[in-house]
Amino acid sequence: MNRRRLLAAGAAGCACALVRHAWAQVPVDYTVPERLARPDVASDEGGLWALMDREERNLRRSPFAVPDAKLKAYLQAVACRLGGEHCPDIRVHLVRTPVFNASMAPNGMLQLWTGLLLRVENEAQLAAIVGHEIGHYLQRHSVDRLRDIRAKSAFGQFLGLFGLAGAVGQLAVLASAFAYSREHEREADRIGAFLMYQAGYDVAEASRVWGNLLDELKAGQGQDPERMSPLFATHPAPPERREALARYATAMPGGSIGDEAFVANTQRFLDEWLQDEVKRGQYAESLALLSRLMARQGAAGLIHVHRGDVYRLRGEKGDLELALADYRSASQSPDPPAQAFRGIGLANRQLGQNVEAVEALDRYLALAPNAPDAGLIATYIVELRQ
Ligand SMILES: [Zn+2]
Repeated sequence: MNRRRLLAAGAAGCACALVRHAWAQVPVDYTVPERLARPDVASDEGGLWALMDREERNLRRSPFAVPDAKLKAYLQAVACRLGGEHCPDIRVHLVRTPVFNASMAPNGMLQLWTGLLLRVENEAQLAAIVGHEIGHYLQRHSVDRLRDIRAKSAFGQFLGLFGLAGAVGQLAVLASAFAYSREHEREADRIGAFLMYQAGYDVAEASRVWGNLLDELKAGQGQDPERMSPLFATHPAPPERREALARYATAMPGGSIGDEAFVANTQRFLDEWLQDEVKRGQYAESLALLSRLMARQGAAGLIHVHRGDVYRLRGEKGDLELALADYRSASQSPDPPAQAFRGIGLANRQLGQNVEAVEALDRYLALAPNAPDAGLIATYIVELRQ
């Protein structure tokens, strides 16, 4: 969509002159370039595009590619709202990996990981990350990166990165291949904020993304930040980014958060993404994340269940009691998830409270007779009754 038309639509929608006024004084000066033409295949940039086309074909076939058409259409719409005239060139791929990450290749392949969707709280926060990635794309940072690597005679190594087999390895490598310079990251943050503002999103949400990630990182203290997210692999450091983005928000106020649309499109995946998160085995980070997500509307029961699972799996002194408290809260939520009773049963089983364990596990099987672990739970019940 043409950005003037988009602005006019926004101004008409809220019937306020303020939007137009604010637009006229956008303090971040950026002119969105024309659509990028496919480079000559004989050029270094053309070669890079061809390489990325191949990666994109692999990604489409990957078992980690999330095939859900409705969710992908939603994510594509967010990218298009930010990308404007570049929309036809941007292709969103959702990858099932419980890590906070996004990357955009020069050919227009935009990867979003499910760990990112679990962590952002609304559409504006998602737009902050997508806008940042589109910023790299519009400025063709990957070409600078390619030439920089080649100047350092490490080009063979760079190409070698793409020869690796194995979907996850390859995805992580792809992300690291586009580890940009500090200046590129700053520029992408600035353009991302500009695109958010232009698309009518609340720019203040951009700095909140980094604030939330920092909290998670602090909870898992001593951990390598890069291990937590490839997005931490690049400078500037998260606190600097968070502050720069907060300044942009002050200069470009207003806009929408898009809470309802985000929840409506992602809620049905929450259980699956939370399961993936718990399986990472990074308990301190998961606890920080789950405690923050507790505020997510209509999801408290499910989040209590998974936080209970984290405590139960960590198994430090007092953890079983904490797990039990979370499972009980879940069981008392308006629409209690069946797993709440599974959790109560398993925690009581470990605590040697057999009567309570059997009662809760029976309830679980009554609510979820076709659960994948129904057979296992039935054998527990038999043992506990002996
Ligand atoms: Zn970046």
